[in-house]
Amino acid sequence: MGDYFQTIVDLDATAADAAELGDRALDWLIREGIVEAEPTDCVLGAPTGHEPGEAWEKAVLDPDWEPLDGLNIETGRTVFLGGQGDGQYAICPRCATRTHFFTEAWDPIEGASTPFDEAIETWQATGAAQVKCPSCVQASDLTTWQWANNYYTFGYLGFEFWNWPPFTPDFLADFTRTLNNHRTILVYGKL
Ligand SMILES: [Zn+2]
Repeated sequence: MGDYFQTIVDLDATAADAAELGDRALDWLIREGIVEAEPTDCVLGAPTGHEPGEAWEKAVLDPDWEPLDGLNIETGRTVFLGGQGDGQYAICPRCATRTHFFTEAWDPIEGASTPFDEAIETWQATGAAQVKCPSCVQASDLTTWQWANNYYTFGYLGFEFWNWPPFTPDFLADFTRTLNNHRTILVYGKL
């Protein structure tokens, strides 16, 4: 089976406001009964998280699928991972060409990911990075590239729900309102 996660990433949160927004969104989730207030050992990758609350059914499409684990809130500069395996390609924001990192047989294409790996390292260190597209030879902000299956998302605030069923569109819309209607992206993945 493995562990399955859904992460709601706030694309507009900044280093300065991520913690405050995260607290506000958590307060709303607690008030709605979707998660418990008291932190416990219930998530992967962090010492504590928030377990499903008494009204978790309100948030999900399938109320027969009980969530197993909790919510971890990541604040601060984070590369959020999605999908399974590896990022197959990235799409240039200027010319929409896909830069592939693997062959169809999933063999790595030598050197293809190097500029992207370097840009991700730079972004982690500084919060800003550019990548030059091999096709149109123009540089773009790393965070404006799209990845296959949203494999990478770059941001400062993310809500990782571990082993929860898929969320309803209404829940996601209400949740986004607590984040000042920021742009959000929902990333799925499996460990
Ligand atoms: Zn391009």
